[in-house]
Amino acid sequence: MKVVVALVRHETNTFSPLPTVLGSFSRGTHGSGPVYADDAKQACLNTNSAAAAYLDLAEKLGAEVDFAIVANAVPSGVVTREAFDSIADSVVASVKKGCDAVMLDLHGAMVAQGYPDAEGELLKRLRAVLPVGVPIVVALDFHANFSRELIQNATIITGYCTYPHIDIYQTGARAGKTLQALLKKEVEPVILWRRLPMLTHMLRQTPAMQPMKDIMDRAIAAEADGRVLNASVFGGFPLSDIPYAGLSVVLVVDKKKKAQGKQLLDELCNLAWERREDFIFPIEPLEQSIARAKQLADGPIILVDHGDNCGAGGPTDNMAVLREVMRQGLKNVVAGPFWDPAAVGQLIQAGVGAEVTLDIGGKTDVPALEIKGEPLNVRARVVKITDGNYIVTGPMFTGMRLSIGKTAVIEVDGILIFVCEKPQEPYDTGLFTHAGVDPAKKKYVLIKSRQHFRAGFGPLAKHIVLVAGPGVCSSDYSQFPFKHLSRPIYPLDENAQIGQGEEIV
Ligand SMILES: [Zn+2]
Repeated sequence: MKVVVALVRHETNTFSPLPTVLGSFSRGTHGSGPVYADDAKQACLNTNSAAAAYLDLAEKLGAEVDFAIVANAVPSGVVTREAFDSIADSVVASVKKGCDAVMLDLHGAMVAQGYPDAEGELLKRLRAVLPVGVPIVVALDFHANFSRELIQNATIITGYCTYPHIDIYQTGARAGKTLQALLKKEVEPVILWRRLPMLTHMLRQTPAMQPMKDIMDRAIAAEADGRVLNASVFGGFPLSDIPYAGLSVVLVVDKKKKAQGKQLLDELCNLAWERREDFIFPIEPLEQSIARAKQLADGPIILVDHGDNCGAGGPTDNMAVLREVMRQGLKNVVAGPFWDPAAVGQLIQAGVGAEVTLDIGGKTDVPALEIKGEPLNVRARVVKITDGNYIVTGPMFTGMRLSIGKTAVIEVDGILIFVCEKPQEPYDTGLFTHAGVDPAKKKYVLIKSRQHFRAGFGPLAKHIVLVAGPGVCSSDYSQFPFKHLSRPIYPLDENAQIGQGEEIV
């Protein structure tokens, strides 16, 4: 037996000004783009990835593995046609050599030039060269958006049940379990899918809390008691101007239990729709959030700037929240990492101990939202320079080797500021500890994130204050010039009805 495995992940924020090229796909590999064959396998082994679960399953089955590619990029703007074709070509080339199953570790919210559902296009290309009946197994991020193409060309689909995403390996293992049953001819998987006409706010999506908790819990219970083979609820990625954005439920059911599956699909979708108002995050003005944080006595207080989060396509160089923190005089703060390769270069040249006056961040405009970059001019002392490399020890992406590139730690009026070459969402405290800075000992930790920080920073937080900084990840969807969404869609259109989404049942 032979399986083809591939990991291709990108969450595309179509409003992001950052282009996504082939070289962007180097997350977790420290490389300058995707890695292939044995390098790809080595990058995934023993990590919290679906691909690692596939490798373990292949070993258990005694199957030969052709690991086509690991192409993993930090969220950013639309993927170039050239990058997408190159990635897709390498998976197609492996599949063409012949295999008994294809096992994919994908994101589900990738948009490439000309392909609003890039994963759907990838699967279509694979189907075109695969003999009839060869299963395609797909593990997807909780933020996947679905077109019919993706559903119709997959055999088995599972999604993460967590946000922060800490069950990525299990998501691959759940799909693998169904694949095993299929290979033994014990089941005949059929996919049921419905996308609701609703954009949820990412700050209200987490299955750890309501309104999503009950919905996800019911899905997990149905999979556990065998009513369905796999049940996944997808919050969807709302910052994507494509017809497929929205909350989806995807069930893999045994053909003879299709009626039961349909019942579950209705139950989960109806519950999500009834709760649509609860998926809206009310926005507090930035100045008020910082003033509220200033009144809190004990730290660490995690200040989460959720408007410019590179984990959802933000450039990570908007300085508005740090500027406000300084204006209101918060002390004992560590902030960052802010993305500014030019400033890092300047600081390296100045050297540790030097005093420098320079502009930090604010170098990227966001034309889609008419935001102009505004650098923060500071007089800073260079405290430390690092290579930015660390290994994740927290629960999300555990074991993955990550890098924020060359990094400068500077001090400005008692505030430690991290400036880096490569943007990265703070899932893990290694971002700071690799430079000898312990965030647990700071009163305030200012980071740019939305939910994923909870994996690494949640356990040390005495308080968490969500701060609505400006940027492409804003929860104020009325700011975004959507043109291609399927309309009507809630909450942009109050009159949207549950039946106005899309489904395959
Ligand atoms: Zn996600």
